[in-house]
Amino acid sequence: MEEITRLILNHYPNATNGSETTEKYLTFLENEYNCDLKKVLFATSLCCDDINISTNFRKVLTRPFAMGGLGGLPFSGFTGMVAYGHHIPDGGDAFIFYGPHIGITDEGILGKMRRPGQQHLTNSCGALMLALERLKATDEIYIPSSYEFDYQQTLLERTMMPFKQQILAADLPHKEITEVAYQCIDKQIHYLIKKTAEEFTCNRVFLLGGIILNTSPEFADYVDIRTFEMIDLKSLEPIQSESILTNEAFMNL
Ligand SMILES: [Zn+2]
Repeated sequence: MEEITRLILNHYPNATNGSETTEKYLTFLENEYNCDLKKVLFATSLCCDDINISTNFRKVLTRPFAMGGLGGLPFSGFTGMVAYGHHIPDGGDAFIFYGPHIGITDEGILGKMRRPGQQHLTNSCGALMLALERLKATDEIYIPSSYEFDYQQTLLERTMMPFKQQILAADLPHKEITEVAYQCIDKQIHYLIKKTAEEFTCNRVFLLGGIILNTSPEFADYVDIRTFEMIDLKSLEPIQSESILTNEAFMNL
């Protein structure tokens, strides 16, 4: 086993390399779910970082609908999910691949990587590592620097903020913030689908979520898959709204 593989498995025991992952899930979609891959519209909610090419899905499933922005949050929101739902080929399926990414150095340090054409290390995910630095600020009052011209980073930091203590108290905060980001992206994708289910022109949405592990250019990238599921859009319960008026705390105001 390559040293880098050993280092990756040490942190992410279930990680598999990008091309194996692609092969595995595409074969599964075709054989187990009778998907016609030519009629699958692929979408991603991945960080906009140029390094996120680790799986080869894009080569097989063309024209991805790119929902993601900094950190991998689905920044295209409801509007993006509705548009995506409207674009599924007739008789086809939807397939969304999502998650954050984290670099690993040749020595096994998480949160950094050596990129193509460079000798020095840079942060990966840069946006999440910046958010982590800002979470470490002892000043408890959070004031975003520039919302209008840096709104994705601002929203990413706000999304991480409720998990500040959990992230900072972890043995490996770089790893922990990536875990939290995964949970947030996963939750948001499910929520957006539920809210827009009636807009989809297909019956099935396949979801593949995980954490992408970026390695130095000479090695394959890896993916730690966390979920693979099929949502039957016809069986989705509409979102239940709960009356705030009946809330005990509200009544006791
Ligand atoms: Zn990133």
